Amino acid sequence: MDEIAELISGPEIASEIKDEVASEVAEIVRQKGMRPGLTVILVGDDPASKVYVRNKQLGCEEVGIKSEAIRMPENISTEDILKEIDRLNYDTNVHGILVQLPLPPQVEKNRVLEAIFPEKDVDGFHPMSMGRLLAGEDCLVPATPSGIIEMLKRKNIAIRGKEVTVVGRSVIVGKPVAVLLINESATVTVCHTKTREMAEHTRNAEILIVSAGRPNLIKGDMVSKGAVVIDVGINRITKEEADERLLKWRKKDFDKKGSTLIGDVDFQEVEPKASYITPVPGGVGPMTIAMLLKNTMKAARMQMGLKL
Ligand code: NAP
Repeated sequence: MDEIAELISGPEIASEIKDEVASEVAEIVRQKGMRPGLTVILVGDDPASKVYVRNKQLGCEEVGIKSEAIRMPENISTEDILKEIDRLNYDTNVHGILVQLPLPPQVEKNRVLEAIFPEKDVDGFHPMSMGRLLAGEDCLVPATPSGIIEMLKRKNIAIRGKEVTVVGRSVIVGKPVAVLLINESATVTVCHTKTREMAEHTRNAEILIVSAGRPNLIKGDMVSKGAVVIDVGINRITKEEADERLLKWRKKDFDKKGSTLIGDVDFQEVEPKASYITPVPGGVGPMTIAMLLKNTMKAARMQMGLKL
C-alpha cells in the first residue's frame, strides 16, 4: 500500500526563521541602537507587485525591521531610478535595497539591478552576488533558492552525495538552487524545455525540485518511490480551466474565489510516492519572505561590522 508523504510546511519553517530574525534584530538594536532597514522600490501599478511589496513590508513589521516602499510612476526613466538607488546606496539607515520586478519595458533592468551596492543587494540578483555564489563564497543569496535549501536542512534531509534533479533554469530559482546544491555536494541535473526524456532525469532524483511554472507538469510516474519533492511552481487555475478531479479536490476554493493555486507537481499523484513533499499553497511560497528578512538582517550585520 502507498504511504502518504510527510508534508514540509512552509509557514511553519518560515515562522521559525522569522522568530530567529526577530531576536537577532532585537540584539542588533541593543548593541547598535539602530534597526536594520529595507527599502523596496515599486514602479507602476501592477496589482500583483503591490501585494508582494505589501507582504514584504508586513514581514518586516513582524520581525522589527524598518521598511519603506518608494512608489515610482510607470513611465519613469532608468536614470531617475538610478538616482534614487544612488541615494539609498549611501543612506546608512538603509541596509537592504530591493527593486520589485517586473519593471516596465522602457527601464533597463540590468542597469538598475547592477546599480545596487552588492552589500545591500538583499535579492541577490547583482552579478557580484551571483558570482560569489558560483565561487562558493559567503554572499547574499536569492531568497527562494536559499529557502529551499533551508527547508531541506530543517527537515534533516541530507543533501550531500544525493542525486538531485532541478526542473527549470531561471536566474531567480533554477540556476541558483542548482549552484547551492552543488556547493552542498549534491550531484545535480538541471532540466529545461530542451531536455530530452525529462522523466528519466526526474525518476533518477532522490530530491526533485521543480520550478517551471507549468501546472501539474510532474506526474506520479515521473517520480521514484521515496523521493523528496519540492514544488516551487505557483499557478492560478480558474474554474473554467480546472478538470473534474481538481474541481472536486479544491471545491471550497472554487466556490469561494472561482480559482485555486496549484503547483508544478501533480500533488494527488505524487504524494503517495514521495517521502516528503511541499504543498502548494503552504510550501516554498512563505519561505521567500522569511529568507528576504534573513538577508536584510545579514546585510545589516555586515554593514554594522557585526560578526555573521
Ligand atoms: P521561469 O523564469 O518562467 O522559468 C521556467 C523554467 O522552467 C525555464 O527554465 C523553462 O525552460 C523551464 N520549463 C518550462 N516548461 C517546462 C517543461 N514543460 N519542461 C521542462 N522545463 C520547463 O520560472 P521561475 O521564475 O523559476 O518560476 C517558476 C514557477 O515558480 C512559477 O510558477 C513561479 O510563480 C514560481 N515561483 C515561486 C516562488 C515562491 O514560491 N516564492 C518564487 C519564484 C517563482 P527554458 O529555460 O528552456 O525555457
